Amino acid sequence: MDNTIFSAYNDIKRRLQAAGIEDYGFEARVIIRHITGFDNKKIMLNYNMPLSAAAQSKLGEIIKRRVARCPLQYILGEWSFYGLNFKVGEGVLIPRPDTETVVDTALKLISEKAAPKVLDLCAGSGAIGISIAANRPDSRVYLLEKYEKAANYLKENIKQNMVNNAQYISGDVLKCDGAGQLYDLIVSNPPYIASADMKTLQPEVKYEPEAALDGGEDGLMFYRAITENYKSAIAPGGSICFEVGINEAQSVREILRSAGFSGVETRKDLAGVDRVVFGTVK
Ligand code: GLN
Repeated sequence: MDNTIFSAYNDIKRRLQAAGIEDYGFEARVIIRHITGFDNKKIMLNYNMPLSAAAQSKLGEIIKRRVARCPLQYILGEWSFYGLNFKVGEGVLIPRPDTETVVDTALKLISEKAAPKVLDLCAGSGAIGISIAANRPDSRVYLLEKYEKAANYLKENIKQNMVNNAQYISGDVLKCDGAGQLYDLIVSNPPYIASADMKTLQPEVKYEPEAALDGGEDGLMFYRAITENYKSAIAPGGSICFEVGINEAQSVREILRSAGFSGVETRKDLAGVDRVVFGTVK
């Protein structure tokens, strides 16, 4: 049988499409890059090259897991976010492009502050806090995470991105861990799916940790808890910055306003969805 890169590419596309995967063309290219180690240009120049037996068996494994709807990010074991590379796998939420808007907003909020202290709550893989640390070498970023599995990725990601101004802390936002100091910015992408909606998630999302997704009965439990528990840990002139779920922006603005935050505003993600809510302590 023909086992060139080109025929493998067509075969992957066909099988992913048959499994109902929307972005089959994009994913097929990502998979080909992964198994060959080639970039797009090298793939174009070598499309007639046969795949080695090892590459073919690796490919078979990848397709088998992907058609079972295991997220591509978990299968590859890494994903890019804000121009950096993050290790991911079962037990940690996959960094999403929407969340890049949180990093953009957070960096603006601290742009006028020298050597800002930042706390990333429910940090997961560390995507937000590590991206901030990498873009502000003068900052000190603390990343709080409760679950050990996620924390192992977080620690690995701090190392691999060489951000020695970032530091993991083990703790629970519901227990106010890490709130004993003053920060210029608190940032968080907490679990925000309403419990009743957990059943309606895409098959891929069901592979992700429930604890990173389930935001309680109305999805807002963590916004209330974090606002209440960490408000006094924000320095005068400092801010809080949340990622929010679809249709949650207004409620989260209200949570911040009634806690006394000023300058409460919303930012949209690239898809035009209200995705970030932030406010400042006077
Ligand atoms: N963005 C994720 C989703 O929609 C949810 C992440 C979260 O709860 N913080 O599946």
